[in-house]
Amino acid sequence: MIRISNIKLPLDHSQEALDAQVLSCLKISPEQVVKSTVFRRGIDARNKKSIFLMYTLDVETRLDDELLAKFDRDPNIKKTPDMAYKFVAQAGEDLQERPVVVGFGPCGIFVGLVLAEMGYKPIILDRGKEVRERTKDTFGFWRKKQLNTESNVQYGEGGAGTFSDGKLSTQIKDKKHYSRKVLNEFVDAGAPEEILYVSKPHIGTFKLVSMVEKMRAKIIALGGEIRFGARVDDLHLEDGQVTGLTLADGSQIKSKHIALAIGHSARDTFEMIHNKGIYVEAKPFSVGFRVEHKQSLIDKNYYGEFAGHPTLGAADYKLVHHCNNGRSVYSFCMCPGGTVVAATSEENRVVTNGMSQYSRNEMNANSAIVVGIDPSDYPGHPLAGIDFQRQLESAAYQLGGENYDAPAQLVGDFLKGKSSQSLGEVEPSYKPGIKLTDLSKLLPDYCIDAIREALPAFNRKIKGFAMDEATLTGVETRTSSPICIKRDDSLQSLNTRGLFPAGEGAGYAGGIMSAAIDGIKVAEAMALSINGDN
Ligand code: FAD
Repeated sequence: MIRISNIKLPLDHSQEALDAQVLSCLKISPEQVVKSTVFRRGIDARNKKSIFLMYTLDVETRLDDELLAKFDRDPNIKKTPDMAYKFVAQAGEDLQERPVVVGFGPCGIFVGLVLAEMGYKPIILDRGKEVRERTKDTFGFWRKKQLNTESNVQYGEGGAGTFSDGKLSTQIKDKKHYSRKVLNEFVDAGAPEEILYVSKPHIGTFKLVSMVEKMRAKIIALGGEIRFGARVDDLHLEDGQVTGLTLADGSQIKSKHIALAIGHSARDTFEMIHNKGIYVEAKPFSVGFRVEHKQSLIDKNYYGEFAGHPTLGAADYKLVHHCNNGRSVYSFCMCPGGTVVAATSEENRVVTNGMSQYSRNEMNANSAIVVGIDPSDYPGHPLAGIDFQRQLESAAYQLGGENYDAPAQLVGDFLKGKSSQSLGEVEPSYKPGIKLTDLSKLLPDYCIDAIREALPAFNRKIKGFAMDEATLTGVETRTSSPICIKRDDSLQSLNTRGLFPAGEGAGYAGGIMSAAIDGIKVAEAMALSINGDN
């Protein structure tokens, strides 16, 4: 197979035009082509007046070797790499003990799936409910302010990314093409096929819900077992080795191989781990607000007169500004055509986040505008970052009126330092509701100063970004884990053999794709360890 990159075509090109490019690049006739598939399709919108699609194609011809030799100096024509996933181990017939996976978010799903595919029959535990029940609880909170602290945006089947935009991009290095395995599994479970080739794939909430169910069914069919409402409250340790765990209902499971894929919000579990003496470090994360604009403003900025073109979809953005006070402010988890959601898992706290559907056709664009902070801002204790998050989330609850409404402010008022009295053209999408106020009371001064400096700087990149009537809601605290459960080269805890900290909660991922990839790596490490190879 031959990979051809850098094929540039106008937005409304035909299939024939793409086929013609293949023939022209390889200087062959149509009869010599066996199959051509799109590996990657990106958008070149640097010049808003002429937007192009950029293709990378995988082409099978009747004379691959000959052509690869002929074009060996052409940087755009290369042999297609082998991206098929290869299992590193296989369970023996006499499997003595089943590995356990705690958490069924993207990371735990892939630890469980890959272990099951290799024959290890994992037992997977999640404190939350199966996804349909969880959806009712989560939407119940958004509509009726009834929070279920064990079944919400953070906890339950599918993990934190289930009610999300389902962006699948990641910046991690992926030499072994693990992301291909993840994307193929998602497509098998019902994700749109285009996620295999568009440069910024996303899935959206409703599709994610049914995909998660299909992945559960696959793991069970392969011999895995999944238990919901199964919160792990204790780990058993003997001489630096994990030997099992206790669930909230008092039942116990013995295993010397346990993956901990608990996400960034399981604060009680973090405390339990720390109290047991498992090595934990405080790590940097970010805090800030969600900003909302009309999606049409973002589209116009990026796509000019092509705004609204179906191939382009809703435009996204990524912004960063380095401030005079040494802080960095950046946009995080941008959700084009989406909504801001209530993402607390604890009572009497307010946390914002963002989600969208596959169509991304809601009125507003939202993203978190966050300031990087590190343990020197919350010194003293490995879990001090959690106390810091809780303080902010409780303050947001109070400022919002103590009824789960989020405190909000117009960008113009925030920049002028005055409380907002009425909304303008951007209607905040946060459910259950918002209360207009002065957000400057919510974050430490160094954060407020940094955001006040960054918004006008972002306005220079996206015209209208700092417009008076854009809205801010708060508070955004769950950007990543406040701790790292450190592990060694064998992916086991630094001081607890058999315990495999994994995914976002352990500090080894940030987002759906990187959590899923970490899950594959951890499954491999567990299998090698069970077989005695590691
Ligand atoms: P999680 O997904 O958090 O899963 C952890 C699981 O562990 C949970 O199901 C929880 O119930 C369970 N658990 C916790 N403690 C215990 C315990 N003691 N016992 C048993 N089970 C336990 N990322 C993106 O890449 N793209 C996006 O568009 C995106 N949008 C997001 C939108 C929202 C609203 C949120 C909240 C997050 C979003 N994210 C997004 C982030 C993404 O969801 C996370 O990075 C990802 O889910 C982390 O995966 P994980 O498996 O490590 O942890």
